[in-house]
Amino acid sequence: MLCCLVHLIHMLNHKSHEKMEKDVKDPVCNMQVDEEITKYKIEYKGKMYYFCSSTCESEFKKNPSKYI
Ligand SMILES: [Zn+2]
Repeated sequence: MLCCLVHLIHMLNHKSHEKMEKDVKDPVCNMQVDEEITKYKIEYKGKMYYFCSSTCESEFKKNPSKYI
């Protein structure tokens, strides 16, 4: 019983870890952002950056090198 529970927890941890790898981070506030949902994205030097809000987006635009 205990063995199955530990296994279940391990499976759950593994699942959430996989999801984390798919999500991207807002470089300004370090919040996790879902790249498929967010409207705030900028391509900078050939790489895409995603933001949680227009505030973070404009903050990045002002000084990109500070956040990469
Ligand atoms: Zn943000």
